[in-house]
Amino acid sequence: MSAAGVSWDLATLYAGPDDPSLETDLREAQRAADDFGVRYRGRVATLAPDELAVAIAEYEAIEERGRRPSFYASLLFAADTHDETAKRLSERAREAWVDVVNGLTFFELELKDLPDERHAVLVASPALADCRHWIDGLRRLRPHTLSEPEERVINQKNLTGRDTLARIFDELSGSLRFRLVVDGAERELAAPDVLALLYRPEPELRERAFTVLLEGFAAQGVVLTGIFNALLQDHRLECNLRRFPDPVTPTHLDNEVRAETVEAMMVATERHYGLAQDYFRLKATLVGLPRLKNTDVYAPLDAAPRTIPFEEARRLVLSAFEGFAPAFGTLARTFFDERRIDAEPRPSKRLGAFCASLGPSANPFVLLSYNDTPRDVSTLAHELGHALHDRLAGHQRPINYQPPLPLAETASTFAELVLTHALLEQESDPAVRRALLCARLEDTIATVFRQNVLTRFEMAAHERRRSSLLGADELGDLWWQENARLYGDAVEMIPAYRWGWSYIPHFVHSRFYCYAYVFGELLVLALYQRYQDDGAAFVPRYLDLLAAGGSDAPDVLLRRLDIDVDDAAFWERGFAVIASLLAELRRTVTPPLS
Ligand SMILES: [Zn+2]
Repeated sequence: MSAAGVSWDLATLYAGPDDPSLETDLREAQRAADDFGVRYRGRVATLAPDELAVAIAEYEAIEERGRRPSFYASLLFAADTHDETAKRLSERAREAWVDVVNGLTFFELELKDLPDERHAVLVASPALADCRHWIDGLRRLRPHTLSEPEERVINQKNLTGRDTLARIFDELSGSLRFRLVVDGAERELAAPDVLALLYRPEPELRERAFTVLLEGFAAQGVVLTGIFNALLQDHRLECNLRRFPDPVTPTHLDNEVRAETVEAMMVATERHYGLAQDYFRLKATLVGLPRLKNTDVYAPLDAAPRTIPFEEARRLVLSAFEGFAPAFGTLARTFFDERRIDAEPRPSKRLGAFCASLGPSANPFVLLSYNDTPRDVSTLAHELGHALHDRLAGHQRPINYQPPLPLAETASTFAELVLTHALLEQESDPAVRRALLCARLEDTIATVFRQNVLTRFEMAAHERRRSSLLGADELGDLWWQENARLYGDAVEMIPAYRWGWSYIPHFVHSRFYCYAYVFGELLVLALYQRYQDDGAAFVPRYLDLLAAGGSDAPDVLLRRLDIDVDDAAFWERGFAVIASLLAELRRTVTPPLS
């Protein structure tokens, strides 16, 4: 493996799990939170605007310090889910963090409860100009907030409740091993290595690998179904307590998007399922199969798929980023130079990939398992896209730093597009172009159409759980139905795919996260179209969008780029780009297919 040894260096956070400053941060954050409470509790409504500005800055500083130990512990744990020290530290740091949060909860509650006249005076004050969006965001949640003791109880019970369920899910899925004969030798593989086999050229191996994986998860069906049911029920109960009309509304409020906007986007996506089916049929022809199975969707076009060593991936990504904007290249380079990327595949590493960020004062860290495939290069570009977004927003204050979720995938998917187009530009060989276009379309389909399926499944599961416990059969049925809508008669699902829901961490970690991928990708396709139309003039406007971080709602930030997400026709632009990629792919096929 070419990424062997490419691990991150977390020393900018702490020298190690026994670094004394870790204890100091835990203790000092707690002390500062207590002190903060003594000075401000019960007084927030009486503060003058400049006093409130000072209080918010203190609050931000305590949060960042208090989160640092658990942030560090979570990175250690992600890098090695078997590391007992990391596990213990993670647990302890999280408990301490909850204490800090509990000590600060009153502050947000008092801001939420400000009388309307007082709120109007405060947000009109120049001293609080860059806090307005945050304060308004808190007040939006006012009807759904409980009393302070109730909020504290929920925070504490979540530790042994849904947080623990999520951790059991991570540990269980990280510990599963799957026996498979690969290249003539029997091997015992972790889930990411099995999923990587879906990109192998042998159809029989792909199907066997995915079946073994799904059957392995099915063997844990009692635990997994139990975790899913408990999480669905936990969410339902919390929605009732907080008087949310339905399970998705909390996510919409967090995302600052209207339910109607999301529904219009999802319906538009479903209207275009035929585009995905057209691709699947074309792909079947390209790989010489009468019809695709769902294990063939990512099949390579050549018998010997290209392998790309990590060093080359680094070069490709950096030069693509530089080609788009020099600032992109320079920023991305620091992640390699300062070892903020953990790319080495290891059996006990957390599944998937992420970019994790503590706050504007610290650099983010990127984790992925680099297995030398072209898709891993895209993943690297994707996570670095997140990292650049974080760095560009680094001048924002902590409360305005994180982009709202619908924009959270903008920089990452845009980075992938930049990479693909840079590679297409250099390439004249039709076979390689074809492979690139297929990879791009498969990523887009996975991000737009598949995530739409995931969201519909999740909505249906939450809806069904209102009336009764969901058995594995029912979850399997819901999953099957939603996938069948996407695949139509273009793709045959393998029988074990009934368990396809059971290994997806998003359902466990962040409810309804998946529609943000659909939003992000369709938005990015439209943005990229704009870049192609406007050229260099687009770049500074785009950088401004990223630099705005989470300082305003998505629709407000996007309006600066003349984009109106509430216009249902807006989503059509993204599908037009997909259609044109598909047309371009058809042109690379000789003789031309009708
Ligand atoms: Zn992402």
